[in-house]
Amino acid sequence: MKLGFLGGGQLARMMALAAYPLNIKCAFLDPAKDACAGPLGNLFVAAYDDESALKQLGAWSDCVAFEFETVPAGVLKLIADQAPHYPSYEALLTTQDRLHEKKYFKKLGIETAPFEVVDCLSDFEGAAAKLGRPSILKSRRLGYDGKGQVMLRDDTNLSEALDAIGKVPAILEGFVNFDREVSIIAVRARDGETKFYPLVENIHQNGILHISTALNNDPFQCQAEEMVKSLLDDLDYVGVLVLELFLAGNKLYANEYAPRVHNSGHWTIEGAITSQFENHVRAVSGLPLGDTNMVSPCAMINLIGTLPDTSDILKIPGAHLHLYDKQPRPGRKIGHVTVCASTDSMLKQQVERVLELIK
Ligand code: AMP
Repeated sequence: MKLGFLGGGQLARMMALAAYPLNIKCAFLDPAKDACAGPLGNLFVAAYDDESALKQLGAWSDCVAFEFETVPAGVLKLIADQAPHYPSYEALLTTQDRLHEKKYFKKLGIETAPFEVVDCLSDFEGAAAKLGRPSILKSRRLGYDGKGQVMLRDDTNLSEALDAIGKVPAILEGFVNFDREVSIIAVRARDGETKFYPLVENIHQNGILHISTALNNDPFQCQAEEMVKSLLDDLDYVGVLVLELFLAGNKLYANEYAPRVHNSGHWTIEGAITSQFENHVRAVSGLPLGDTNMVSPCAMINLIGTLPDTSDILKIPGAHLHLYDKQPRPGRKIGHVTVCASTDSMLKQQVERVLELIK
């Protein structure tokens, strides 16, 4: 089996690491010649829309998967002519536009924050009057890790807020006064078999994921599973998909979905019986899915911007270090630490030790 990836970053790297014991060979298309997945397979160094490189990747691969969701439609078409690809065109396109994604959630009966279309200043004035403040202006396309967003506070000037996101088509979203941010990671096989990982609680810092903690038997697990299942079934989805949710009171609100493995699932490498990476590889390759149960209390802490003293981290019992071989740069995810412990209280202590070291 040969698996081609669009993208050769840390997600592709971790998928290739999971594919290796299954004797699944990997190739990556990435514009960076030092793409961090490169040493784990064939690397095609080219722009993502380079036709001849896409054809080469497609010809090499039995199946193509994606490390990111912002794949242009033309690229998908070229890939589809060469090899089957997972997830589908629809799954990728729907999430590339926040407005389409929100409307899609609505169609499936999945609750979201209230939202309004903002194409110009007068739309924005109407939307702000309707949704009130605080609310959040979000560009419809290419927003991630809090980019392309402006929080509308009492003193925010609307015209300046539109300028700040480059006056691109946007939506205004009502603010959800959430108690917790959680995500549900699910995987669906080609035959429709579906499995769910335990719900994960996520804490962000400066709009970037900082800590994810797996939740054992959370009371909202079933509700979250039902929400993500309706998405997976409607999309006839194949692979891992994550649904990001806000929990407010006793209600879950969908924020967005990612049609791929996700940072909030990195803990599954050591913390679950089968990792999200292996299950994605299994699903797209047409293999049976692995058990998604967690093996022990577990949390993941991202290493962002700078590298701490790694030997100090390795001294922490139950800590597993993952470095992505990426140059440190402010705001850049360069690795993560997963901590597994035998009890929740021990987990808390070990996580605090990691946090001390990366301060
Ligand atoms: P996003 O890019 O949509 O994932 O948003 C980045 C972060 O902004 C989220 O993880 C939340 O912490 C916050 N956020 C986004 N949308 C809302 C909302 N409607 N209400 C409250 N907080 C939000």
